[in-house]
Amino acid sequence: MADLQDILYSIYREIQPRIGEGKVADYIPELAKVDPRQFGMAVLTVDGKIYCVGDADVAFSIQSISKVFTLTLALGKIGEGLWKRVGREPSGSAFNSIVQLEHEAGIPRNPFINAGAIAVTDVVMAGHEPREAIGELLRFVRYLADDESVTIDQTIARSETATGFRNFALANFMKSYRNIQHPVDHVLGVYFHQCALSMSCEQLAHAGLFLAARGSNPLTGHSVVSPKRARRINALMLMCGHYDGSGDFAYNVGLPGKSGVGGGILAVAPGIASIAVWSPGLNKVGNSLLGSVALELLAARTGWSIFGD
Ligand code: GLN
Repeated sequence: MADLQDILYSIYREIQPRIGEGKVADYIPELAKVDPRQFGMAVLTVDGKIYCVGDADVAFSIQSISKVFTLTLALGKIGEGLWKRVGREPSGSAFNSIVQLEHEAGIPRNPFINAGAIAVTDVVMAGHEPREAIGELLRFVRYLADDESVTIDQTIARSETATGFRNFALANFMKSYRNIQHPVDHVLGVYFHQCALSMSCEQLAHAGLFLAARGSNPLTGHSVVSPKRARRINALMLMCGHYDGSGDFAYNVGLPGKSGVGGGILAVAPGIASIAVWSPGLNKVGNSLLGSVALELLAARTGWSIFGD
């Protein structure tokens, strides 16, 4: 395999003519303002070497990538009991779909579609006020990234609170099935803030490293989850991390990954590296268009697909 830094440069060069492709999310007004002509990528290996290209140090809205961190927290709080509240199957429908919820009596398909993530956030709150739950989440993500400078973008959180009608619908619907325990506006307050976490590719790659390294961060020595739990979170990311584009992502990239409508993707090469990529333009199912292309190129050039090289 060629040198990793050279591989990143080659991907960056290959992507250049396509920069700006895709459509930025515009249902959250603040996200519609983001310049689509940005691209960054960071690869952090389990032995602590970091390789970056492009806008890898620019903070962006991680949106649904945060669902990996709240899932980790919720499993830490109630363990396998979580699976009474949310399923573990791919949804085959859009991230904000409402139709499946009625068929399945208020139990969302998986923790990564919006309904499932909102139920997970309800678990994370564990009787606390939104402010405390947001504080706990921010501390956790800073601990994972080993970086106290990670923040939440309040303007984005406010923007989504003002326009998140579908998420209110999903949460109210689940509440009618008693699958939301706290007041709906409190749960969504926390959910919108977790989605508004602002991180760079470098920070995100650090935060995801435990998933590539059997549940512990090899750089800090912090033990986050057991190897078994890390393996299972990776399994969920592979099957559900890209909504109804999860099959395509597994087919083209072959790594567990989680996308967000801010244009970021966190991918995990188990035992090897944590990878974060960001490009705001999205494909039809709401995953970063060039981010997916870049990861496909990376997997092809490194042989890191979990399905073999
Ligand atoms: N905050 C966004 C929402 O709830 C997250 C969606 C996403 O990143 N796919 O709609």
